Amino acid sequence: MLELINRCMAKYIFVTGGVVSGIGKGITAASIGLFLKSAGMTVDVIKFDPYLNIDPGTMSPFEHGEVYVLNDGSETDLDLGHYERFLDVELSSLSSVNAGKIYNAILERERAGDYLGKTVQLIPNVTNHIKDCFAKDMDKDVRIIEIGGSTGDMEGEIFLESFRQFRRQHDGEVFHVHLGYVPFLACSGEYKTKPMQVSIRELLRVGLQPDMIVMRSESTEERPLQKSQIEKIALFSNLKTHQVISLPDQNSIYGVPMYLRQTDLQLNLEEFIGKKLNVEFPDFYTNFSKEREPLYKIALVTKYTQLSDSYLSVIEAMKAAAVAEGVEVDVELVDSDRDDLDQALSKMDGLIVPGGFGKRGMEGKIKAIKYARENKLPFLGICLGLQMAVIEFARNVCGVDAYSREMFDENEMVDESKKLLIDFIPGQQYIKRKGGTMRLGEYACELEKDSIAASLYEAKSILERHRHRLEVQNQYVEILAQKGLKVTGKFEYKNESNQSDYLVEIMELSPKDHPYFVATQAHPEFKSRPNRPHPLFVGLMKASIQTKKSPAT
Ligand code: GLN
Repeated sequence: MLELINRCMAKYIFVTGGVVSGIGKGITAASIGLFLKSAGMTVDVIKFDPYLNIDPGTMSPFEHGEVYVLNDGSETDLDLGHYERFLDVELSSLSSVNAGKIYNAILERERAGDYLGKTVQLIPNVTNHIKDCFAKDMDKDVRIIEIGGSTGDMEGEIFLESFRQFRRQHDGEVFHVHLGYVPFLACSGEYKTKPMQVSIRELLRVGLQPDMIVMRSESTEERPLQKSQIEKIALFSNLKTHQVISLPDQNSIYGVPMYLRQTDLQLNLEEFIGKKLNVEFPDFYTNFSKEREPLYKIALVTKYTQLSDSYLSVIEAMKAAAVAEGVEVDVELVDSDRDDLDQALSKMDGLIVPGGFGKRGMEGKIKAIKYARENKLPFLGICLGLQMAVIEFARNVCGVDAYSREMFDENEMVDESKKLLIDFIPGQQYIKRKGGTMRLGEYACELEKDSIAASLYEAKSILERHRHRLEVQNQYVEILAQKGLKVTGKFEYKNESNQSDYLVEIMELSPKDHPYFVATQAHPEFKSRPNRPHPLFVGLMKASIQTKKSPAT
């Protein structure tokens, strides 16, 4: 009976997109979730991606943006990061589904004999599987389901068909938001709604009638999207005018929910949910839109500087820390291969060396860390950033000819004289299969009393997310500690011979020697939330504020 009541209350909000990708479907969907969560409802999310990789873990961040890691170790699309941040939730692998994952599961079932005697087909086998995913373990008031890609994509058709069938079976429980882009033609000085009309027609063709349309554009006060254009879209989509919302570009993603507050979004949601929503956004959103100063510049030294999405969560974590400290921050991507790195860093108030893979750019990162250490520039090393900090310190302070395993090709023999301070985590050297095989997800870390980390976290034991194959080799820890780079966080475990052992998780220089030199093997950026900035980023922000003498303008 109870289950029946829960089922009756289930509400699904589907979000599809048209015209082009990259128009902020994830942000809009997350903003809708924020509205509902801020009105006291429980919300979860599933993102469906039509591409055939099992997950984005094997894709280059330059190809796909950052790989976002969940507590359970799932390697997911960066939109999951938007969802976790906007909704302040912790998602699981259930929330990230790719076509590759679906086909893989079906083919495995076929080999296991689950369909014995039957033909396995797109309809009903694939559609049923997708529909099961839509409703699986639904225990929240609302589930937001984002279908990646754009209408008309061949790969996406099966998802839209599954959605059509699902809607038919869940009458009254489904609300469909469709986003599209309205380009501005500079030569004729007007917005063109035709591509959007076509994307709506495509939806109607596959049997999907949207309940609300979001028109994305570059509309500004000087160059506004006309009411008549909104009405035209309403006409083509069988909707009333208030069901079509114009959403122009915003300066920041956090401006999106603030902007949507002034539109009819809430009215539409109230009509669907069937009650008045008392929306109270977390303070962060109001604080974010206020002028804050002074401005601090944090260098993010990396090899992929063309696509800031590759480091999205690091940048968002830094912004959250800045808002909490009431200042403005500019995270500048600095190419690790630049010859004038020192000069670039001399204009900065802090340095982050983020996670990364492959040997290119490593020497530049080491140079940047050397600069930060010697010039007392606040520094936060993340994953690869910790590994490079260890190499830098070993080489330049301890006089050890230090290397990371990643500096050599896969089958290259490493000369004995070269010390591999960073090498495989025990067991990782045997793993050849790629995809989901690194040390992934949440692991505990015990913090050293009286360390910077313990005072920032205000805890003895913490949980952080991971994504790595390599580790600091414990036999070198003492050499580093003698000169001042100490291990202040450890993952403790029993090794193969049932002996107590540990992996290095956090290292730091004493505050007597440096204003802030902290490095972590984990990815703290995935745990930062707008309203709960991560302690290690707050530590960096505070140190930058304290060490800066004359603020940059
Ligand atoms: N490439 C390094 C490793 O595998 C660091 C990984 C990372 O920065 N996420 O250990």
